Formats: sequence, structure tokens, C-alpha cells
Amino acid sequence: MLTIRRCPTVVSNYQETLDQTTGCGHNCLGACCIHGAKLPVYSFVKFPSAKGLGLDFYGESDSSQVQEFDAQHDPVQGPALPFLNTLILAQWEDRLSRGLFRYDVTACETKVLPGEFGFIAQLNEGRHLKKRPTEFCVDKVLQPFDLKKFNFTKVGQEELLFCFEESEDKGSNYNEMVFMKDSPNVVIINVSPIEYGHVLLVPRVLDCIPQQLETETFLLALHFALEANDPYFRLGYNSLGAFATINHLHFQAYYLATPFPVERAPVRRLNDNEEQDNDVKIFELTNYPVRGVVYELGKSLEELVHVVSRACNLLQNCNIPFNVLIADRGTRVFLFPQCYAERQARGEVEPDILETQVNPAVWEISGHIVLKRKENYEMASEDYAWKLLTQVSFSEEAFSEIKHLIFSSDEGMEQTSMAGNLEKLNLSQLGKDSAKTVHQGLNNGNTKLRKNLSASEQVCI
Ligand SMILES: [Zn+2]
Repeated sequence: MLTIRRCPTVVSNYQETLDQTTGCGHNCLGACCIHGAKLPVYSFVKFPSAKGLGLDFYGESDSSQVQEFDAQHDPVQGPALPFLNTLILAQWEDRLSRGLFRYDVTACETKVLPGEFGFIAQLNEGRHLKKRPTEFCVDKVLQPFDLKKFNFTKVGQEELLFCFEESEDKGSNYNEMVFMKDSPNVVIINVSPIEYGHVLLVPRVLDCIPQQLETETFLLALHFALEANDPYFRLGYNSLGAFATINHLHFQAYYLATPFPVERAPVRRLNDNEEQDNDVKIFELTNYPVRGVVYELGKSLEELVHVVSRACNLLQNCNIPFNVLIADRGTRVFLFPQCYAERQARGEVEPDILETQVNPAVWEISGHIVLKRKENYEMASEDYAWKLLTQVSFSEEAFSEIKHLIFSSDEGMEQTSMAGNLEKLNLSQLGKDSAKTVHQGLNNGNTKLRKNLSASEQVCI
């Protein structure tokens, strides 16, 4: 088993004081305290299509569709006012004034690094104060949920901002006191924020879903972004093995009032074929240190969700760690397969990069780099950011195989030929082991692979 040592981020004030005895002793988000409680609920309307969303892109991709949507903008179909934004920020600031955060993120220094890409560096000395490093295994993307470990049902209700539920009628609305009976989708603060309004979205918290992406929960995350309707508000997802620290399904989200460098990176269209039976536009990044795939909303939200979650499913079933960024109000999705932790475990990451102790998860990969030490912050440059992120990326050869995997239209056939191709490959350095695992995963079949994943005593990153 490949492992690395690191300090897990403390996302809740209940994370370090978790006791193993029965009974929570506080108003938690578990069944013991949620059922019968009255909680604030924001209800959203499911979008049947992308019409009326009023798209806004930083990218340079084909914008004819976007203009068409803008022209047809219909406030009745989309969120009439981005009330969700107001709600998130008002509630977040309320928790700030109650002293629930571990440090004041608004006092953290931030700068844009000089250069072509506009990488953003932040000095955050408070985020990593925990003294004891823990060993994380980095080679298991799918792991069973472990009730004994910290999970979001243990969080106190004061860290809850609101629940985020599908509306039963036609309008988005907010109700401060709703009687809880099912398993709500909860929006909670991240007590170690890296930016203003940093929250976590935990789908169906009582269902204890492990950290893995499925269609339904990914759709929920897209709705959260659509409903916020703010290009500065992005959602991120880290798989196990790609720097998620808690094996309980969650998305992160925060506001950053500037484009992420990856949002402005040039792209090349991959699915220009008119025969495609869906209209999701698919691109790859062309001049960016991490190789990645970009999906852009066409006519149907469901289609976007289907295409992206299918790709994520293939990656996680083939044991390839990945990160996802949801940008442009939920209309663009970036998918980054990554192998940094594996390289780190193998001792292949260069010492000057390791020395800065940056864990390249979704925010770092997108170009927002959180540094722990003042000297590293002061010395940070575009060269450093580029070098760090290059070590996250799969090699061109391995990435090409991964694209082949996720764009296969016939799963059975493509998986067989994929396995054949991988056998011929001699993947040196980058992603060697992951690629081998792809091969094994394809040979074993996804179901069998899942069964083979045994419960581990360690939580994967
Ligand atoms: Zn409780």
C-alpha cells in the first residue's frame, strides 16, 4: 500500500474532539438530533434545460450557444434573484461573528503572481496548525464508509447554514423552520476556510455516502452552482487519493472575485463530430500545467451531468484519483485526473516542491495556491506554480489513454481495447502505477474491483 504522511485539514470544530462513545451530547447533524428538529431549508427548482440561465464565460470557447441563451434569458425559469448568494454570505458572516472559524481568513494575504497565467497565491498560516501528521493511503480511490471515523453527521448544528432541497412547488424559496424527517442535503461552514464564504455541501448527510461521484449527487452540486448564479462562486471536488481528507461525500465551494487561471486557459475541442448524440461540448486544456478535460453545458443539464459523472465513475472504478472544478455558474466543469500523491509516495516529487508542503487539490490545480509559510509566499512565482502543478499531471501518453477510457461510447468493447492498449504502453514515471491499475480495473470489471476494496484502517486522501 502506498502511503504519505500529512496533517488532515480540520473542516469542523468536532473533528478533533470526536469521542467514540454513544450519544452525541450536542445538537449534531446525525439522526439522533436531526429527526424532529426544525432546520432552515433553501428549496430550489430543478432546471429542465439550460434555457434562461444567462451564461457568463471567462473562457475562449465557442460562445454562439451562450449568446443564444443570453438572448433568451427568462428570469422566470432561472433563479430570479441570486438569493442563495445573499443567504450563504449572511449566514457565513453570522458564524464568523460567533467565532466558529479557527482563524480569520479575511486577514490572509493574497496576491496574483506576475506572469502570463495569473496564478493566485495566498498566505494561510492558520490552516495547518494541527501538530500530528497522519498516514494516508493514496492508492485506493473507492473505500467503504467507516462510521468510526469523523464524518459530517458529527458536526454541530451551529456549523449548519441551511439545508438545500428540491422544491415541491414551482419557485425557489427559503424557510427558516422546517420539520426534518428525511436525510437532508446540508450546507455547512468549513472552519478552516481558504476564502470568503467557504462552505461544504454534503448530499443526503444521513445516508453516509463515501467520497465518490454519482449522477444524482453531482446533479445536486450543479444545481447549487446554478442557483447561486455567481461566476465568482465555484464548487470543487477531490477524490480519495487526490487530497480529499474525509471519506464522506462532500463538495467544497467559495467565492473568489477573480478568474481562476484554468478558467482562462486555452482549450481544444475534442468532440467536434456532428454525429455526437449529445450537445455537451468537450475540450481539453492545451496550455496549462495539468492536463484536463473541460465540459461545457449544451441544451440539457441532465446531459452534462450524465457525461461528466460517467467519466468520473470510470476513473474511480479504475482507481485513478481526480479533481473536479464546477465553474461559470455550473455551466462548465473541469476534470483533472491526477497522480501527485502517488508520485510523492514513490519519492518522485522534487524536494524544493515538497518543502513548501502544498497539497495540490482542486483549488491549487485551478490556480489558487494556498501557502503555509511566509518565506514560501514571498518567494512564490509563476515558475514555482507551474513546476508544482506539472507534477500533478499525468504524462501525455497516460492522459491519452485516460481520454480513450472516458470517451468510450461502448463500455464493454472500449474497455477491452483499452486494456490491450495499456499492455503495449511503457508508461515511465508519471502515473505508472495508476495506469497499471486502470488495466487491472478493466480486466477485473468494475463490480469485482469494488468488491475487492477491503475496509482500510486508514482514510485515504
Ligand atoms: Zn446528535
